[in-house]
Amino acid sequence: LRIGVVRESAAGERRVALVPKAVAGLVAKGLEVVVEAGAGKGALIDDAAYAAAGASIGDAWQAGVVVKVAPPSDAEIARLAPGTTLIGFLAPRNADTKVPALAAAGVQAFAVEAIPRISRSQAMDALSSQANVAGYKAVILAASLSTRFFPMLTTAAGTVKPAMVLVLGAGVAGLQALATAKRLGARATGYDVRPEVADQVRSVGAQWLELGIDARGDGGYARELTGAERAEQQVQLEKAISGFDVVITTALVPGRPAPRLVTAAAALRMKAGSVVVDLAGETGGNCELTVPGETVVRDGVTIASPLNLPSTMPEHASELYSKNVTNLLELMLDGNRLAPDFSDEVLAASCVTRNVSAPVSPSVTRIEG
Ligand code: NAD
Repeated sequence: LRIGVVRESAAGERRVALVPKAVAGLVAKGLEVVVEAGAGKGALIDDAAYAAAGASIGDAWQAGVVVKVAPPSDAEIARLAPGTTLIGFLAPRNADTKVPALAAAGVQAFAVEAIPRISRSQAMDALSSQANVAGYKAVILAASLSTRFFPMLTTAAGTVKPAMVLVLGAGVAGLQALATAKRLGARATGYDVRPEVADQVRSVGAQWLELGIDARGDGGYARELTGAERAEQQVQLEKAISGFDVVITTALVPGRPAPRLVTAAAALRMKAGSVVVDLAGETGGNCELTVPGETVVRDGVTIASPLNLPSTMPEHASELYSKNVTNLLELMLDGNRLAPDFSDEVLAASCVTRNVSAPVSPSVTRIEG
């Protein structure tokens, strides 16, 4: 079986799907790996490192299994032969998803976003590995944009109080943000609409903000709030937010626009010099003043909405993603043959186009959602 590692073409995407260490592991198992020239460039990995790991450098798009990070463009899909298996982020629930185009092209596609969040699949959970990177980097960004120290400082010139950091949405990214803010010496507080998260927030040394709204949804995710709940949440958050120096927002509801947690009024009630880092910009943002992809300053409050933060740390983000992809791939292997067992819930759930080129069975296209 030949595995192809392609060069990412999306603007700003610096990650690569497999790093040389993972390539060496696959080659040791008897698999062939072909890497497109320059595939690792954004992550500062040169072709020679892949060659040293046992890969050949060539046309990775013609491999039996193509591994990728960002969803493919139409031009990239055109490079995939019918019958190819593709593994990567495919945004299966987004309105502009390429899943139907992949089905039409006869590609068998596995979307890493659709891997069920169960214990057994944790090592394949790319949403989690990349959310960890984003949560960490959001805090580093906030600290560098802030006009204030994060830690308490006791110096001969006086004492500086620790920064107050509020994290809204305490999933994987939010918990990492809380832990990172704590390590930098800030006073961290977390909030979420899933009450079971309170203990996880406290376990990283942060305080829990209780607003009395329970919006547990399916599969461990949050559900969208009703209009009345949203209004109540915004009013309560507006009161709470003004006491914080930094607000980091990470709230998402699968397949829906990002919930609006921070109104313009709430953001502008913060002291001048305060910072909001909104990680939900890709789906519209959690803050009313967010301009996705931009950093804006309003009445002295900085509102940053960085897109694709994991790509700003391409080395470690790729290393972690590479592990996730390898583990998912290995679940599909029988020796060095690709033989996905679709009675396995991880493969059944993550496979979004299947059997599309099989001669005996009709086309089956399944879009998670
Ligand atoms: P996510 O990225 O979908 O959302 C981020 C957070 O935003 C979530 O905690 C969500 O509850 C919160 N949120 C949504 N709407 C909100 C609102 N209006 N106000 C405040 N907060 C709001 O979440 P995620 O990090 O991908 O985690 C999703 C689930 O998966 C969680 O239950 C998590 O514990 C679980 N998980 C399980 C595993 C595993 O066991 N393998 C691994 C990772 C995550």
